[in-house]
Amino acid sequence: MRRQANGRQRQSRFERGDDLVVMKFGGTSVEDTAAIRRLIGIVQSRLGAQPVVVVSALARVTDQLLEAGSAAAQGHLGTALAIVRSAYVRHEQLADSLVDGSAYSALDHELRDEFRDLESLLHDLEVSRALDLKSQDHLLSFGECFSSRLVKEALCQAGINAAHVDARACIVTDARHGQASPVWDVTEQRLQQTVSPLLESRRVPVLGGFIAATYDGVPTTLGRGGSDFSAAIVGAALCASRVEIWSDVDGVMTADPKLCSDARVIRRMSFDEAAELAHFGAKVLHPSTLAPAMRENIPVYVLNSRRPEGEGTEIVARAKGGNVVSAITAKRTVAAVEIESTQGVDSELLRAVYAAFYRHSCAVDLMATSLRHISLLVGSTAALPLIAADLRGVADVRWENHKALVCLVGENIRRQPEVASRIFAAVADMDVRVVCQAASDRTITFLVEESKVDESVQRLHGIFFSQPEPARDWGGISSAFCQAG
Ligand code: ASP
Ligand code: MG
Repeated sequence: MRRQANGRQRQSRFERGDDLVVMKFGGTSVEDTAAIRRLIGIVQSRLGAQPVVVVSALARVTDQLLEAGSAAAQGHLGTALAIVRSAYVRHEQLADSLVDGSAYSALDHELRDEFRDLESLLHDLEVSRALDLKSQDHLLSFGECFSSRLVKEALCQAGINAAHVDARACIVTDARHGQASPVWDVTEQRLQQTVSPLLESRRVPVLGGFIAATYDGVPTTLGRGGSDFSAAIVGAALCASRVEIWSDVDGVMTADPKLCSDARVIRRMSFDEAAELAHFGAKVLHPSTLAPAMRENIPVYVLNSRRPEGEGTEIVARAKGGNVVSAITAKRTVAAVEIESTQGVDSELLRAVYAAFYRHSCAVDLMATSLRHISLLVGSTAALPLIAADLRGVADVRWENHKALVCLVGENIRRQPEVASRIFAAVADMDVRVVCQAASDRTITFLVEESKVDESVQRLHGIFFSQPEPARDWGGISSAFCQAG
């Protein structure tokens, strides 16, 4: 029985739900023989619980598939085939080094069949001369199909009773290709029907992350980096006791370590803080990952597969006290849009503006209004000329490129006025533009020129993280994480 975030209790169909751990391994954690051997060791260390394994495609494979797809759609079939053949050789070599005997022959057969289908898709793309999002999802789904089959056999070879589960048969989404969302009820039902019997017979299910299908079985994907989201979906559907995201970083960091050499791992943070960080550009988790975990109140751990003994970051429901600022992140290539109407801003204008941005699928990050202006931030300017044309006669639309949004995240950041004054004193000599701390209690964000973003993050990190990490009061919440093995 699990207590949900809303206090309701939910019974898992899988009776040992309390011991269930979903382990997601990212591309670099399955990139070569050594990485897959480390994965095997980590899964072995969790056999005291009941693991479910979710894997990304091997590092770089998704990008290669995209490259092959666009080459084929431009008529360069030879280039496209050469790219996927090199990926095929890489998978074959891994299979050869990790799996023996008849299991190897069976795997070899499966990989060969899948690659044949992939090649035939590339032929189709060459003929149609178009790579739309629907074909792109089909194309990209091969990466996780290959990796999940490979990892399943490698686990079996190591004596673990693994079973391959086709994620496309279990995770059902809408048809928004490229960035599909799960249809929750059907997904939950299918995952329970498929995965629970395997768990009951003590098998270790292995699924490809990122990939799913519509109700009618058309392949979809959950957006780049979507394997994290898959793991959270599986965890929520099966009432897991934790979700582990295994990657090649030590955890969620206080800032990008490439920018701040003294950035450190955040030991514990709240779901909300982590969700804000993912939303504002931190690369460590797919932004949708936290929602299912939050709803079912499942702790999420971000761990390093190269250093499995590390503590990583624990992401749980509530955090109190501790450092006021948990982390600093930045979203680059932001454009600032100004919409001006001489008639003034009213609900009519807002409706027209929303409709225009929606029509052209242009995601809006932040919004502020004044008497005659609406200020927006967007990640891409591609649709802005069309939006400006739609609004002609109603409002003038202008925009400026090369901005970046700096974001400070912390549970109570907004309740401490001195934090904002320290922040703005630190960047007083920079051209700081839109300042917005109203939207969320947990963030303070501001806009700077892209050329100034590194310096502002470094200065702020220096100010807020020069002291060692203070202890946090976790309001009686204890860690559900036990380092097994
Ligand atoms: N392979 C996919 C990507 O590269 C999904 C993932 O790795 O999470 O985006
Ligand atoms: Mg990722």
